[in-house]
Amino acid sequence: MDEQNLKIVKIGEPVLRQKALAVSNQDIPSLTPLVLRMKQTMYDSCGVGLAAPQVGLSIQLIVIEDKEEYHKSLTKEQLLERERKVVPFMALFNPELSFVSQEQREFYEGCLSVPGIVALVPRAAKVKVKYHDERGKKQEIEASGWLARILQHEIDHLRGILFIDRAKALAPSLSYAAHWGNQPFEDVVKLILSRSV
Ligand code: ZN
Repeated sequence: MDEQNLKIVKIGEPVLRQKALAVSNQDIPSLTPLVLRMKQTMYDSCGVGLAAPQVGLSIQLIVIEDKEEYHKSLTKEQLLERERKVVPFMALFNPELSFVSQEQREFYEGCLSVPGIVALVPRAAKVKVKYHDERGKKQEIEASGWLARILQHEIDHLRGILFIDRAKALAPSLSYAAHWGNQPFEDVVKLILSRSV
């Protein structure tokens, strides 16, 4: 049963707009089977993060992982531009996010619950997250770059916020792949801002 994939709910489902409930410390260890199923669902969708509301459960749990194999299609320059590094698998219960500085970064994002759309989203460059791990133990991490972006995107899901709510510009992901995917970020920003109303 743990091998079975969970269904990813899409925009329009009310659960994506609800505030998720905190998980009590005693309950965390009993949710290991759910963590494993979310991990598998994230892998099968080639995502770098998944929040429990995206599988229809309004609880404060996110899983993240940025695998080396996902970086193979990107050049060194693109990885540097995204400040993207390999991130091992992590499950975070009841995450509390705070900004380390006022500095922001803009880049494009997508979401498994909002298929077909890519958007330019400003995010804090550095964040701190306090959470409980899979064993219910208190942890704290500081993150910058792409990991900071993933954390902000996934923790937003626990508050009923989608990336399109924070977007400066939206575009169909097909045109992203065809026209922007391999261009320097500055050129893409100029292009999409000149097209947005
Ligand atoms: Zn998402």
